[in-house]
Amino acid sequence: MSPGLEVQIRLRWPEWFGQHSDYTKSLMGHGFQHGDGWYRLLAKTFERIEPEVARFNRELAAIGTQFEIVEVKEKFGSLRIIALPTTTEIICAFMDARYESLTICELCGAPGAFQTEYSQTRCTDCAPPKR
Ligand SMILES: [Zn+2]
Repeated sequence: MSPGLEVQIRLRWPEWFGQHSDYTKSLMGHGFQHGDGWYRLLAKTFERIEPEVARFNRELAAIGTQFEIVEVKEKFGSLRIIALPTTTEIICAFMDARYESLTICELCGAPGAFQTEYSQTRCTDCAPPKR
């Protein structure tokens, strides 16, 4: 994702990306490994889990840890978000985002579809010509 959009996410939820320089704990040092077209879906998903993360972090404070996003990437044409530790509610939100991403062009955010030829989700303008 473009640095400008990454900054928007990191500024909005800074405490969710605390250990990004340690690759044994988080892969966020690689950045958000997907196209700009999923920015709005990502922001919507993070807004959805915000109350649950706040509740969960109060619980985690007792054991001296906190919720953290450790990887965000494209895989097989869909958006994958991985957090540790996490809850069922948060995982469900991430699964919803994963399935919704299969209907949104990863590059431009227009309605798209999963392209079986090359395992990417694209709109008709961004998809390479059919062979
Ligand atoms: Zn597109």
